[in-house]
Amino acid sequence: MPELGSADLGRRPGLRRGPADPEALITAARHGDSRALGRLVTLVENAAPELRRVMKVIAPLTGHAQVVGLTGSPGVGKSTVTAALVRHFRDAGLRVGVLAVDPSSPFSGGALLGDRVRMQDHATDDQVFIRSMATRGHLGGLAWATPQALRILDAAGFDVVLIETVGVGQAEVEIASLADTSLVVVAPGLGDSIQAAKAGILEIGDIFAVNKSDRPGAQECVRDLRSMLAMAHYTPRDWKPPIVSTTASTGAGIADLVTAIGAHTEWIEETGERARRRDARAREEISAIALAELRQRASGMPGESRLDELAGRVAAGDLDPYAAADELISG
Ligand code: GDP
Repeated sequence: MPELGSADLGRRPGLRRGPADPEALITAARHGDSRALGRLVTLVENAAPELRRVMKVIAPLTGHAQVVGLTGSPGVGKSTVTAALVRHFRDAGLRVGVLAVDPSSPFSGGALLGDRVRMQDHATDDQVFIRSMATRGHLGGLAWATPQALRILDAAGFDVVLIETVGVGQAEVEIASLADTSLVVVAPGLGDSIQAAKAGILEIGDIFAVNKSDRPGAQECVRDLRSMLAMAHYTPRDWKPPIVSTTASTGAGIADLVTAIGAHTEWIEETGERARRRDARAREEISAIALAELRQRASGMPGESRLDELAGRVAAGDLDPYAAADELISG
């Protein structure tokens, strides 16, 4: 994000450098100011102290955005699918946010993804906000940061938020589980369906997109997936994940994908699954914040942390470890 030039200082109340004024930033973001929104997401990345205030103010403003997760191995076409979905939602007049996260390389890796999407045709559209997430080494990592960034986009009034993750490991599965609808993207020729099964991604996929359906092997890929999914035991009330063939580079099949997302959205609303998923998301958020706080208390230079002080007392026999853990938790 470009820095504000000195001529801008003081002109726009929410955007001055220095300590952020959370209320002003939120108001600006809700009025479509993407720079203010970017600053709010940066507060998350930096685990800035102002976040507490931000989260308090925006809590009543959240819960409206439809959250769609996209997961899949590098190269299957996630960014291309994301860009095609953004185009589709924009054509429907919706405001769309995209968070691109790369759990495997928290310091820099995610940057490329979002930039690639940004470079396509949404660069000048102020109803689209695209951001790659990085977490400058914060103890809670992306599992801590992503839901909070999502919260900010939700409060800023985005109708749809797409969360794109880079790989197919445990961390990606966790992040994908934040979504109301999780899309798993595979492509022929990369052994992806097998890899997806290994990483437990079959369980989290609400919809499977077999992208690059213009390539040889696409039909086999659909067949493999279908037989893998057939092994799962569904009750009549369960959602049965559809497999949609797409060629994201031409847009073919994207309308079918949007239809499948719409059908799943209806299903989660009718069955109460949406509320259940949101409760699960809130549980994860609370745990991630609480655990990060605990880790914070337990870290620091030797001799300086609360944990070190307690450890000294336990080692000397002045305190038992349960009582010490209680003290650590209660602060
Ligand atoms: P990501 O790493 O999963 O985000 O994949 P990208 O979206 O960057 O796509 C990887 C490459 O595959 C790019 O060169 C795309 O242009 C190309 N690609 C994406 N979708 C398709 C498709 O449907 N068919 C073909 N043939 N190529 C595609």
